[in-house]
Amino acid sequence: MPKLKAVTEDHPPRLRDEDAAPPRGAPSGAALEKAFDKQAERLKDLQKVFYADGRFALLVVLQGRDASGKDGVIKKVLGAVNPMGCEITSFKTPSEEERSHDFLWRIHARVPARGTIGVFNRSHYEDVLVVRVNDIVPRKVWSKRFDQINEFEHMLSLNNVVILKFMLHVSRDEQKKRLEDRLADRTKNWKFRAGDLKDRANWEGFTKAYRDVVTKCSTPWAPWYVVPADDDDVRNLLVARTIADALEALELRYPKAEKGVRELAIT
Ligand code: AMP
Ligand code: MG
Repeated sequence: MPKLKAVTEDHPPRLRDEDAAPPRGAPSGAALEKAFDKQAERLKDLQKVFYADGRFALLVVLQGRDASGKDGVIKKVLGAVNPMGCEITSFKTPSEEERSHDFLWRIHARVPARGTIGVFNRSHYEDVLVVRVNDIVPRKVWSKRFDQINEFEHMLSLNNVVILKFMLHVSRDEQKKRLEDRLADRTKNWKFRAGDLKDRANWEGFTKAYRDVVTKCSTPWAPWYVVPADDDDVRNLLVARTIADALEALELRYPKAEKGVRELAIT
């Protein structure tokens, strides 16, 4: 199965329903399980040295429509790493205090420290997605945010924050199934909000907004990856592999022992 490729401006993704299906060559069944376990193991080992190395922070941004699998990626993919080195933030509708600051204020406060992995479950991109589609601020305001985001992320990358952004792309039919599931299962009811249906009704509006996001804000320092997400396990494999590859490319190393430490005797 081919690796995920970062979005580039000359190949804006179409985000059609069929693009959410597993890519050609994707494993299934036992082979898929084995492939995922291998990536999870890699991730676990890389995170250990990443933490010890301490030069970089890793920020993983997860975006996607309702029921696209953001929570699932956190549970399965990030579940593979030591929780001590990982911090998850779920961004909700901004509070009154948050709204009285610039839109990046609450985001910056949650950027991970060096040596740790930060995961954003939704992010500053909501400020050019839901905010745009639902007319929460005027076009004049949100349209300037793409450049502001690129500059913010550039500043972070110059300060050793490695940024990977994943848009979990589900088809309309698959989302319908998952939302129906949430309604049918009493233990999942709490995940369902009436507003989710309003967002679903405006499918095309969100598609257009997502297309702009991943095209205008995929940069060499903070690439966007569109993940075919109709199959949970294929989605997890693709995300895990992309994160592991990025960590591996950092050529991480364990810090040298303090001088004399290796000669110490424990009595
Ligand atoms: P959930 O991820 O299902 O827990 O829902 C969180 C909700 O918060 C979603 O409906 C988001 O659209 C909304 N949200 C997150 N960030 C913002 C934002 N900056 N402005 C408005 N709504 C937001
Ligand atoms: Mg929701």
